[in-house]
Amino acid sequence: MQYLYDCINLIQKILYPPTCLLCGAPGSAGLDLCAGCAAEIPRPGPACRLCARPLPQPGICGACLRHPPPQERTVAPFPYAGAMRELITGLKFHRQLAHARLLGALLARELEGSTERPALILPVPLHPARLRERGFNQALEIGRPIGRLLQLPVDSGSCRRTRDTPHQMGLHERQRRRNVRGAFSVTGALSGRHVAILDDVVTTGSTAAELARALRRAGAARIEVWAVARTVER
Ligand SMILES: [Zn+2]
Ligand SMILES: [Zn+2]
Repeated sequence: MQYLYDCINLIQKILYPPTCLLCGAPGSAGLDLCAGCAAEIPRPGPACRLCARPLPQPGICGACLRHPPPQERTVAPFPYAGAMRELITGLKFHRQLAHARLLGALLARELEGSTERPALILPVPLHPARLRERGFNQALEIGRPIGRLLQLPVDSGSCRRTRDTPHQMGLHERQRRRNVRGAFSVTGALSGRHVAILDDVVTTGSTAAELARALRRAGAARIEVWAVARTVER
């Protein structure tokens, strides 16, 4: 399956050179994004190392100092605004699957300098009912190009969403936390491993934190959370 996917990708690259997904102009820097639209993507700024909340300078935010999250690190560089928001909503709600490759490439570039690589990428699973409804898991679609670029395996089988949680939108942080409690089960052998949870957007971080707790119970040694974007206010 992966081989087939790689072949299709190669053929696509030969037949269709990089083209901006937002405006149709030729892509630049090997991305499906032109220089003009790339300039419209809000730049990453300093953030909390544990939860990715924006900070005036890199460090750990007050909330994480009071209640450390279950993960050791969160990388969610791009503010969920402007062209970044357009790319993510296009993927999630308008089935623009080509956006996943670009989003994955943008996050992979931010991660390239990381010294300690995880052993695997674990996209946040969707509940089977939600997967049927949407037809694809956006986190897995974004994870595939990241796995290829960083040469890391993408594990979509070790972890399940056992409870179909109502949409998180419009819920407060505490309600969100309650909403996802016990939503995941880990079946794969992840004991002692360094794992990177991958999601498209981090909002309050409650979904990723719940999955991180499940992974911790399953024995994972080090857990990071990766997301392309973080919401601006929370
Ligand atoms: Zn463009
Ligand atoms: Zn924090």
